[in-house]
Amino acid sequence: MKTYENFIGGRWQTSKSGQSREIRDPGNGELIAKVQESNRDDVLAAVDAARQAFDSGPWRKTSALDRGKFLFKVGDAIRADAARLARLEVQNCGKPLAEAEFDIADAANCFEFFGGLATKIHGETMQVPANSLSFVVREPIGVCGQIIPWNYPLLMAAWKLAPALAAGNVCILKPSEMTPLTALELAEIFRKIELPAGVVNIVTGPGAGVGEEIAANPRIDKVAFTGGTVTGRKIMVGAAANVKKISLELGGKNPNIVFADADLEAAVDGALFGAFANQGEVCSAGSRLLVEKSIHKPLVEGMLRKVPNIKLGHGLQPKVKMGPLISSTHRDKVEGYIKLGQQEGAKLVCGGKRPDAADLKNGFFVEPTIFDDVKPTMRIAREEIFGPVLTVTTFDSEAEAIKIANDTEYGLAAGIWTRNVQRAARVAQEIRAGIVWVNTYHPTFNELPWGGYKQSGIGRELGLYGIEEYLETKQVNINLDEAPIGWY
Ligand code: NAD
Repeated sequence: MKTYENFIGGRWQTSKSGQSREIRDPGNGELIAKVQESNRDDVLAAVDAARQAFDSGPWRKTSALDRGKFLFKVGDAIRADAARLARLEVQNCGKPLAEAEFDIADAANCFEFFGGLATKIHGETMQVPANSLSFVVREPIGVCGQIIPWNYPLLMAAWKLAPALAAGNVCILKPSEMTPLTALELAEIFRKIELPAGVVNIVTGPGAGVGEEIAANPRIDKVAFTGGTVTGRKIMVGAAANVKKISLELGGKNPNIVFADADLEAAVDGALFGAFANQGEVCSAGSRLLVEKSIHKPLVEGMLRKVPNIKLGHGLQPKVKMGPLISSTHRDKVEGYIKLGQQEGAKLVCGGKRPDAADLKNGFFVEPTIFDDVKPTMRIAREEIFGPVLTVTTFDSEAEAIKIANDTEYGLAAGIWTRNVQRAARVAQEIRAGIVWVNTYHPTFNELPWGGYKQSGIGRELGLYGIEEYLETKQVNINLDEAPIGWY
């Protein structure tokens, strides 16, 4: 069993707290690693290293071409070690191996996408009504604090680090205290490719202390956060201390809308995949299925026929399609919502309990759960459950579907299933969300912006938009008149 240290200033370092945390496999409870349970002092050490790297280290003088080359090397190194990283991801966060393999490959792609983008950062010249040469340059923001959740550990680290580094920033990354292992393996990759010391620092530990210090520390220029909306609000308050720049990727309660003219079989697959991929522990999960009344019965029956194909088990076991939830505390939360759904009068049509199999007793499993006859006012239809719980609500008209879809404080993603292209375009325009999928659910591309309307966040990750979050904009005005201003 490995004990990991923090990665600060290019070196592995034990926490100043003297504390460590056990990391257990959520699928069987086995101890898989120990990590540092850091405190504020470790963040302060990381801030010193990062400031030094940004203010006087070689990184700011490193050309965009060479920054890009570093990122390509990271992509190559992840790919070379992909099989081991995928297994580690499964053991740490519970997802099925095929999903972890996809995430690891996508993390490599992400570093390569932004590696290529490093050399495309550009400014512009403007014609102004004066005799001057006026232009706009883009510059890195500086030291970026980055705080990520537990559901896509390496991928979320890639989404944060790759654009920040491409833009010339330096980073202090805090993984979730529950799933820090692949981010720490990534730190070893940074060490091996000899990224200058202090450019990436990784500090493990809880939100209280470590995360709070990253949000509030006045020597950190920006904080980028992915996690729950409640935590996002606290990050904003912390960041207010020095008017830090912020970007937030928060929660969702995403509508997946099926119209009567949809391909029913495709919609059944899309509804299940949207709700149950990654155990439903996905910010963009299609957790609210809105179904046109005339196809309600066949759609629900279609889903119930396929749910038994969702094999529960440890993510490393063959053919497993759904792993355990991340922790017993999280399972308690999800089970609390299942109980609430029944109390609210929704009809439980499948799941709702832990699996009976003896070999799953030590993991935090919950069966894929579907509630039918769900009213949009019920709490199970309004609050983010972040587990394998799907609610089914019917509608009579397109206008009603749009109204229910938008009746939420969130605005991250939505799905639309229809064969009518005009309807697809119309509804996509009416949905107040940052991501709309038509006749598909969940595809996520490094090339496209990711982020939410309303309380699902501020800013965008990925795509050309993602790098914008890590760039300052400066105007330079060179007066071409040699005469004095002559005002006084
Ligand atoms: P969380 O908000 O509990 O924790 C996220 C991170 O914030 C963790 O690293 C945690 O240690 C840290 N943290 C907790 N309290 C903090 C504080 N007071 N100050 C600073 N940092 C603090 O979220 P989670 O349970 O890890 O993840 C689930 C949530 O993340 C869901 O709401 C989900 O929708 C959201 N999420 C959003 C996206 C997206 O792209 N929009 C992606 C993945 C997850």
